Amino acid sequence: MLKKETFIASLLGGAIGDALGYRVEFMKLHEIKSRFGDEGINDLVLDDYAGKALISDDTQMTLFTADGMIWAYERMRERGIGSYAGSGVYQSYLRWLYTQTKSLPDEHYDWLLDPQPHEESGSILAYKELFSLRAPGNTCLSALESNKMGTMGRPINDSKGCGGVMRVAPVGLFLYKDPAQAFKVAADIAAITHGHPSGYLASGALAVIIAELLNGKSIAESAHSAMAVLKEYPQHEETLSAMENATELAGSDESPVKAITKLGEGWVAEEALGVSLYCAMKESDFKKALILAVNHDGDSDSTGAICGNILGASYGIEAIPEDWAEQVELKELIADVASRLYDRSIKM
Ligand SMILES: [Mg+2]
Repeated sequence: MLKKETFIASLLGGAIGDALGYRVEFMKLHEIKSRFGDEGINDLVLDDYAGKALISDDTQMTLFTADGMIWAYERMRERGIGSYAGSGVYQSYLRWLYTQTKSLPDEHYDWLLDPQPHEESGSILAYKELFSLRAPGNTCLSALESNKMGTMGRPINDSKGCGGVMRVAPVGLFLYKDPAQAFKVAADIAAITHGHPSGYLASGALAVIIAELLNGKSIAESAHSAMAVLKEYPQHEETLSAMENATELAGSDESPVKAITKLGEGWVAEEALGVSLYCAMKESDFKKALILAVNHDGDSDSTGAICGNILGASYGIEAIPEDWAEQVELKELIADVASRLYDRSIKM
């Protein structure tokens, strides 16, 4: 039977990759090497004050996605109507906005700051670490500040930044029994803030990969399955091409540095997915794969986070180095949120 630890491993793996990459997010590869040596950054760096390896907005928002999924699930169960994006995750993202800006788009949302029925083990807003500013994405902030919820049908902007795909792993976990539904829900959730098709379709594809890994498929098989679902959506070509390139390069003898350069820097969603998928397929050792995923010119924390989500779902908690698991910030909250997702998900 599917283990709770696998849910934890996917979110914890993502947090570790995020923390590893966050130190070098805005550095070019040559800058990373001159700071950390020829192999680049290869270990977590602990914050002097917190004594932990700090997570960034990628993991913060992933936790709000997970909490929002549980919130929506409970509300839909009670009312018999609603959607994951509209009945919990959007509200959860407004709470995330509050953690970053101390304001909500409208005073009618003040109730969101109160404890909610789904928060049986305490509110996510009780964690002061989530209020820390860790280079939050401008697209996410401005989309949520607009007081409008974007959807695939009514896009809120034309952004295909990686701020959608970096936060949707919990959707693949929660809906693992129905990968096609996981795609749709993850795309809906990314479209709350990212209106370009590649911005939300890459998110759907990641959710299918995570779901299929939980169903026992290999990373290559899961990517294949995700591409099959992706093709059913209009304007999928760019994301499909990024995924095809990633899987082809992973099977070739192209050097990783050259391969990642070809796949892009990961600031946009389909590239972030491509780089992460490539690294997870190229290297099966957890540490080596994450080191590969963060040492490049581009958006290291997001590619580290997505790669870590995939590795954790694929190889489980045993594959995660204990020292890294102990050092990452908010480990207990991550495990708690993953457990609450698991407890509901297996019963669906
Ligand atoms: Mg970040």
